[in-house]
Amino acid sequence: METAANGAIAAAYLIIPLTLLPLLLTAKREIWLNLVLLTLFVFSCGVGHTLSALHLHSTSWHWVTAGASWAAVVALLSSQNRLRYLGETFHLLEATWEQALTGKLLCERRGDDLTLLKLNPAAVVMTNNLLQPGDRLCEKMPLHRDQVYPYQVPLIDLYFEALASGVPNRLEYQYKGEVTGWYMTLVTPLSPQLLYMTFTEISGVIHDPLTGLYNRRILEMELEPWEVCLFIDLDRFKLINDQRGHLLGDELLKAVATVIQDHAQPYNGIAVRNGGDEFLLLLPASPADTPEPWPTPEAIATSVLQDILAIEVEGASIGASIGVASGTIDAFEEAIPINRLLQAAETALREAKRNRRSNSPQHRIQVWNSLLARRRLRQITLEAYLEQRSSEAEFSLVYQPICHMATGAIVGAEALIRWDSARLGRVSPAEFIPVAEATGLVHRISDWVLCHALEQLAQWQELAPQFTLSINISPLELEDDDFLERILQRVSGAGIASHHFGIEITERGIYSNLDRYLQSLQGMRDMSLRLKVDDFGMGQSGLAQLLQFRFDEVKIDRYFIPTSAQNLEKLAICRAIATLSEGINFGLVAEGIEHSSQRDLMLGLNYRYGQGYLFSRPMPPQSLTTLLEEGTCLSPQ
Ligand code: C2E
Ligand code: MG
Ligand code: MG
Repeated sequence: METAANGAIAAAYLIIPLTLLPLLLTAKREIWLNLVLLTLFVFSCGVGHTLSALHLHSTSWHWVTAGASWAAVVALLSSQNRLRYLGETFHLLEATWEQALTGKLLCERRGDDLTLLKLNPAAVVMTNNLLQPGDRLCEKMPLHRDQVYPYQVPLIDLYFEALASGVPNRLEYQYKGEVTGWYMTLVTPLSPQLLYMTFTEISGVIHDPLTGLYNRRILEMELEPWEVCLFIDLDRFKLINDQRGHLLGDELLKAVATVIQDHAQPYNGIAVRNGGDEFLLLLPASPADTPEPWPTPEAIATSVLQDILAIEVEGASIGASIGVASGTIDAFEEAIPINRLLQAAETALREAKRNRRSNSPQHRIQVWNSLLARRRLRQITLEAYLEQRSSEAEFSLVYQPICHMATGAIVGAEALIRWDSARLGRVSPAEFIPVAEATGLVHRISDWVLCHALEQLAQWQELAPQFTLSINISPLELEDDDFLERILQRVSGAGIASHHFGIEITERGIYSNLDRYLQSLQGMRDMSLRLKVDDFGMGQSGLAQLLQFRFDEVKIDRYFIPTSAQNLEKLAICRAIATLSEGINFGLVAEGIEHSSQRDLMLGLNYRYGQGYLFSRPMPPQSLTTLLEEGTCLSPQ
């Protein structure tokens, strides 16, 4: 009887742990449940057998089973270390595991590989059912392409890296294989054995949906330093887009993207849509062991340009300007090489756009050179000095009279800013205004000019009530939401007759984006300000555009002022504008009259007003006050 009871107790002590073991090994549950199960297991297995051996004074097999049971307990306790982590991890993750949109993997290191313990439904979808629990990850996905080119990192190295740093390791990488795409991964070591990874597909975030090229975000990633950058900007794209429709515009962009992609591929480069109609082609250094040396960056640019010019979509074609920079730029140091390269290429591009005269490569492609480097350096210096508050004290205004050409009577003046920098000497507005525009400082400068010019006009109107004064503003001002409000305040505060105050905006500036500026222009018209188109003829917008908004006055650029009766073309242009002005009633001023012969020719074409060195150079306000007080006429016929 006793033996039977003994046997039953011993059997129970074996059966209980055996039934508990599978429960313990399936770890997906709360940690407290694990602990209860563990206590039961230890008690029933080890303690039970030991008590049996001590109290039941039975045969030595009790001692054997007790020893075996303790060995099982020790093994289980050590494996509980793992279970504890799993328990905690699941505890943490359970809430988000199933519903998460990011892929989540829990892996365990076994030898030189990572075994996948668990993955969530999002990970199953993202990896196209490629991964199953129990898979050996390093075997299945041996390499991660870290960033773009040319690194390939074994997966296990990522694990070691994360383990060594002890903090989550965030990296963006491209994976090419059975699963293809760009991913952002967060690698978090939980223990020396356990690794938790989340990953999100970001292919959509770094790709431009229209063209399929990379977008600008790719540049934020720590790329391998690229050797060559081609900065490509399409010419007149906006015009085609507006006139022929966005669908056609899209097709053109896609065709251009294909051309650039085709040029990136043979050199292991990447093609990027920088935004709008701007593209980048980034190429690595030519490898030392290529059988044939790569063409020069300029030759590649020429070939890209030719292919873009050859594009034709529904009869529409497109031009492009290209700035080229290669790794040899060394003019100034900045921390991030890709930024330096881009900046150099962009500066070269701006130069190419400035010089464009024809479609030939020598007019459309500009390679970064030491001259541009010096110019860029100068711009950076100007920027730095302009930004200083003290620069305002270094500004002054000079005034150039505008005359009735036949009599030489002064009818008005144009205010022109001067900057006498303590460090740089006198800097021409033609040089520093574009820099101020690029940095946004132009708003501060314009406001300064506005205040001083209005104050001056109030004084002069007392001397000569019909006197008009104009200032130059940058088209950027028209984009500023506060501009109208500010100008209204200043003008109404100055106590002047506002129709005697003029605003000059260059033709190039206005007609590049007239639609956008119409509201501001109309706002100024409502204030009765005199609106003037400056430098007319230089912006290549033509007479048709001039009819789109009724300006009060047009100033013909000095380039178009004929120097002799033999300048037939210039004469014809000036005559055409004069005829137009009579028809639609806008005033005309001829700029840059230096010689009496020019004045006479312009008078012959019915131009009444002129401005230029013949009458007077720009002068300080006191000098003009004296002239007005004395009623002086300048260089009358
Ligand atoms: P702009 O508005 O077309 O001004 C006329 C420029 O031509 C002035 O140059 C003037 O000194 C110069 N000029 C006048 N008559 C003659 C002439 O007979 N022969 C020659 N060769 N030149 C003549 P400046 O003062 O150097 O200004 C250059 C440009 O800078 C201006 O061209 C204007 O676009 C811009 N600017 C000047 N002041 C300001 C300002 O306060 N704000 C803004 N946004 N731009 C300004
Ligand atoms: Mg002007
Ligand atoms: Mg002008």
